[in-house]
This record gives sequence, C-alpha cells and structure tokens, in this order.
Amino acid sequence: MRFHILTLFPEMVMNGLNTSIIGRAAAQGLLSLNAVNIRDYTLDKHGKVDDYPYGGGAGMLMQAQPVYDAYQAVVGKEKPRTIYVTPQGTPFTQKMAEEFAKEEELVFLCGHYEGIDERVLEEIVTDYVSIGDYVLTGGELPAMVMIDAISRLVPGVLNNEVSAETESFHNDLLEYPQYSRPEEWHGKKVPQVLLSGNHKNINQWRLEQSEERTAKRRPDLYVKYQEKKRIIKKLSRKKRENIHIMELLFRGNGEVLYHEGDNLLIFDRKSGAYFITAVDLEQGEKMCGLIPADAEMFVTSQEFLVELLCEQFRVRPGIQCVQACYTRKETLPVKYKDIRKLDESFLDYVAEHYHRGTREYLKERITDGAMYGAFDGERIIGFIGLHDEGSMGLLYVQEDYRLQGVAASLESFLINRQLEWGWTPYGQISVDNEPSKKLQEKLGLYLSAGNIWWLEQIRPLSGQG
Ligand code: SAM
Repeated sequence: MRFHILTLFPEMVMNGLNTSIIGRAAAQGLLSLNAVNIRDYTLDKHGKVDDYPYGGGAGMLMQAQPVYDAYQAVVGKEKPRTIYVTPQGTPFTQKMAEEFAKEEELVFLCGHYEGIDERVLEEIVTDYVSIGDYVLTGGELPAMVMIDAISRLVPGVLNNEVSAETESFHNDLLEYPQYSRPEEWHGKKVPQVLLSGNHKNINQWRLEQSEERTAKRRPDLYVKYQEKKRIIKKLSRKKRENIHIMELLFRGNGEVLYHEGDNLLIFDRKSGAYFITAVDLEQGEKMCGLIPADAEMFVTSQEFLVELLCEQFRVRPGIQCVQACYTRKETLPVKYKDIRKLDESFLDYVAEHYHRGTREYLKERITDGAMYGAFDGERIIGFIGLHDEGSMGLLYVQEDYRLQGVAASLESFLINRQLEWGWTPYGQISVDNEPSKKLQEKLGLYLSAGNIWWLEQIRPLSGQG
C-alpha cells in the first residue's frame, strides 16, 4: 500500500507515522509513506501558499495552484483515490478503513488555516472524510489517524491470523475486557474462566462481555448486532443449507443490505460477493436494484435467482456446490502431525498446485494467515486454507503422499483451529466431487440437501475447492 500525504508539515506526518508498528511495516516495504510538502510547489517567490478568502471572513485559505501541482507531482496516469481530510466530510469508521485498505495507492490532502480553495478540491478530491465533529488546526493528525487505521489492515502489517478479527467494531460489537500478568493486582483477580484453558468457555464468556459492554456503551451498535443475531437464529432452522450466510454474519464480515421476512441480501466485505435469498422473483428483482451494476460476484442457493442474476449483471454461473458443515463441538484427531501456518515463501508451491485462484488471491490468503501446510521434514507436501468468505478449501496433497490420511489431517487441523475461535467450520464441495464429499462425511461433517451457486464475472472463483 502506497500513501502520499500532501501537507505543509511533512516532518510532523513522517515523525508520527515512522514509529512502532507502522514504521516497522514501512521499513519492511509493506507500506510506503511519502509526505510531500505543498510549499515546495508554490510559484510565489516568497514561498507563500495562502491568501485572503474572497468575500471576506476570518483567516487565510490555502491556494489552488500549489495544492494542484503537488498532487500532479505524485499521481501518475491512474488517478488514485484522493481523500481530503475535513470536518465537513463523512465520519471515518472501521468499515471505511477496511474499504480503503483494499486500494494499492491513496493520496491524503491535509488542509491548514481556514481550509483550501474549493476549485482545486473539485478537481482532485474523490472522498471527503472527517475524524469527528470538532475542528482541528490542520489535517495532519486526521490523516495520520486514518493512515494508521488503514495500515494495520494491510496483510502482513500485524502478525495476526484470520481469527484475530475480533476487535472492537468487528461484528458491531466492542471488544471484551482483557487481562495480562499478574493474576492478581490491587486485590483484583483475573476472571477464572480465562485461566481455564477451555476455549469454548472462554469464547462464550468473551462474547457475553462484549455484548454487555456494547449494550451499555454503544446502544446504537448493539441494535445492529441484535438484528444480525435474529437473522442467524432464523437461518439456523436450516443450518446445513444456510451455514455460509450464518458464519458470514457471525464472523462479522457480512453487511446486511436488505432483510424482510425471508428475503435477505448480504454483502461480504472481504470477498466482495453478494449473498442473495428471495421468496420470489419479484423480491429478487427488488434486491437486485440495491446492488451496484458493476458487482462481480454472487452466491445464491436458488436456481431462479441464478437466471435473474445472469440477466441483470454481467456474471455467469460457476461451479455448483453442496455445503458441508461441522456442527459438533469436539475436536478431531490429527494423525499427520507436522502441520504449520504458511508464509509467503510457500506461494510458488501453492500457486503451482492450486489452479482455482489467481496468484494474487493465493498470496492474499497466505498473508491473511489463512493457509496451513503439511510437511515431511522441511519439505511441504500439501496444504489447506480458508477462502476469503470463510469456507474451508484450497486443499491439495502431493501425489506420493496421498491415501495416507494427510488430507483428512489437514482438514481436521483446520476444523480444530476454527473450533478454538468459536466458529462453525464449513466447506463447499463441487457437486460432482465424490471423493471430497466422502471425506467430509468420514470426518463427521453434514452435507446440505440443496446446492449453492457462485456466480462470477472476471475474477476466478473464490468459494470452492
Ligand atoms: N474552516 C474549516 C471548516 O469550518 O470546515 C476548518 C478548517 S480547519 C481549521 C483546518 C484543516 O484542518 C482542515 O482543512 C482540515 O484539513 C483539517 N481538519 C480540522 N478538523 C478536522 C476533522 N475533524 N477531521 C478531518 N480534518 C480536519
């Protein structure tokens, strides 16, 4: 991710950002931070960048020319999103940070004095964003706040794995209270459950604490969270068919765009897919009207919607799948022991052996901490992973190691990890893949009676395999 910050105080921005986690990520090349001094671009021989506002009024205004020339100096032919940080913008949220984190390059424009000449804003700004309803002296702190929040979502910047997405605002819940050593401080003991080692109880306790805290401190968020909970409960009547939507909501990546009766439209922020269920064609059409015309990926379990979506969007049906979900709470035995999380040094191996995703997609899965490999000594012999929308897949075992329980061990390992995180593991298997269906049943997963379809435009399928 490349950040350009147009500012009158580049050293303030660089000093602030070049420390700790963000500084380290920049040093490792995961981020690049380029603070550009707008003053360097003024044509005024005294280095002036501001002037009085026409019509009078308090203070000075930054002039259009230096801002425009500084902008032109950093952007190429492809115009990146350009964010003017301003109290007049849309309030910055975690969701926005997630959206910006998908960009490869961003420009931040920091105002000073009373702001910036409107004409240059009209020409270069794509997004007006505020950090809150108060007025600061300059845009440097807001830009730093946003860059920090965006950067920590860039794969590899935090050393987390997929499961670590349990922070405040994830899933419309605030984070639970946390404790570190010592076990007792000022007479206050760490809650017993956290010392128990029982992940199921720990997850349950944390969820309750999060709910309680959110209800008390952020009732506005809690209302949204409760709506999701109600939808999950309703979907659980047909768990095997609906597990993908239930988990999407439960894990906090699904955004409910429409919900009325059994009509449901959910957007998955991670994969960019729209999950749609409708009681009839009319309702399906109504929901299609809520989806941007350039949407590239859909998931549905209703055949009539497959036809409708193909008519209305430039998509075609991909592979038809059944779902397999593991609803038990007991962990599975893992016979083949040497299984480890993969890092980017294994990308070539994964890309060579897995053909249903682009190299870029596989790289993202690895940097997200979502892929595990089976090893014989230092040699990798197979792998498994979680797709971006949450299903298990990306399974491969080298031919000379097949029929030795490696695939079953990889899947059992991944199931166990998800149980630790409090998730319900599930996968999607192409309807004609009998060996994989057999493996799922052998491991104790239940297959759905109905099928689901992924519809896609140009991107390779991310939901199967
Ligand atoms: N006169 C401007 C107005 O009323 O909207 C405020 C200008 S402020 C003193 C100077 C600069 O600080 C702005 O141009 C903007 O870049 C930045 N700024 C101040 N408060 C901000 C906030 N809450 N969020 C984002 N940027 C802010």
